[in-house]
Amino acid sequence: MLKIGCHLSCSKGFAVMGRQALEIGADTFAFFTRNPRGGAAKAVDPDDAAELVRLLGEHGFGRLVAHAPYTMNPCAADENIRRFARETMADDLARMELVPDNYYNFHPGSHVKQGAEVGIALIAEQLNAVLKPEQSTTVLLETMAGKGSEVGRTFEELRQIIDRVELSDKLGVCLDTCHVWDGGYDVVSDLDGVLGEFDRIIGLDRLKAVHLNDSMNPCGSHKDRHARIGEGHIGAEALIRVINHPSLRALPMILETPNELGGYAREIAFLRENYSE
Ligand code: FE
Ligand code: FE
Ligand code: ZN
Repeated sequence: MLKIGCHLSCSKGFAVMGRQALEIGADTFAFFTRNPRGGAAKAVDPDDAAELVRLLGEHGFGRLVAHAPYTMNPCAADENIRRFARETMADDLARMELVPDNYYNFHPGSHVKQGAEVGIALIAEQLNAVLKPEQSTTVLLETMAGKGSEVGRTFEELRQIIDRVELSDKLGVCLDTCHVWDGGYDVVSDLDGVLGEFDRIIGLDRLKAVHLNDSMNPCGSHKDRHARIGEGHIGAEALIRVINHPSLRALPMILETPNELGGYAREIAFLRENYSE
């Protein structure tokens, strides 16, 4: 029942990612829809996408959690950056339909001195411009660490975005354990309390995926530096409680730890050993 994987490179195409996932014992994965720091996206070969869809079905994968590029900032002060963000998301969502029924996760954005209120309004405006009733992809807002002027550190901010989006049935949330910890939510000593708060403010039915990361920094540091499982301030025990928690155990778990494929394979095996069926 545990669905776990990591970030894979899309540079050799879609089906290659499916085969790599199988090699490292993963049954879900994440990939950047385009270069995470750049702009242009490679065209997707429909046959390649169909081959991935076949692999996913054959091997019982959980939903994939695609990731928008970091450079996408829907609430930038500069109108050109906002237009780029809108076009990027619209184009990504169109291509996601070649691998239907999966997730597309994005960083809500940085308001760059405009204030969180303005940021929230601009993010919602972008979502209202690009979401389509017929899309099969659910778009996930990622919980952020609160570095700089990032919007989405608090559950309240995510809720305010969701509330302003017309097609909000197309929206969910991806909980990043490093980010919420760095943002000030103590998932080590009070995981139940944090999830209770998530439920009161956003609703646990919105929680669709987990980014499973340890953190190089203490709770509330607002830093966003990921560590390998068990090598940071969160620790292996707390992350094992995360994967086994009744509210989280059925969600796709994505590792974004600093690793090569071999390191990911070891973390996946370790977490599977510590998951109670
Ligand atoms: Fe992210
Ligand atoms: Fe993340
Ligand atoms: Zn991060």
